[in-house]
Amino acid sequence: MMQYELQISSTDLTRLQDHAERMLPDEAVALLFGTISGISVHLTRVELMENTSTTAHTSFSVSPEVEYTLLVEAEKRGESLVGIFHSHPAPPRPSQSDLRNMRFNPVVWLVASKLAGSWIIKGYALEGNGPVEVVMHVVKSRDSIP
Ligand SMILES: [Zn+2]
Repeated sequence: MMQYELQISSTDLTRLQDHAERMLPDEAVALLFGTISGISVHLTRVELMENTSTTAHTSFSVSPEVEYTLLVEAEKRGESLVGIFHSHPAPPRPSQSDLRNMRFNPVVWLVASKLAGSWIIKGYALEGNGPVEVVMHVVKSRDSIP
């Protein structure tokens, strides 16, 4: 079993939480760029996205054009899409439709939930047909581009 480790700065974690808070009661979404070596995922850039879903309370989508531009820019920096963040009105674990989408986008999925009162963000990667939790290392240093 491969258990991925995700390194994220506390600054980026806070930005994701603030984004999720701002988007309530809709789901918030962000694309996460960085590098992967072995099982280590190093997140270096967070792109907060607009949720373009027509049912944004319970699902999310992003503009394919905007996503394409970000992917091209990331490639120029030697980075790739390493994660997808979204927030949930439900507990912080992938829904059935998330699991389907994880198969098409086999990156680390971060899911945020405020169901317990304060924001909780958990990471998952697909292993076989099920999600496996990703170990998250929150680093203090700010080496991420805002
Ligand atoms: Zn979801």
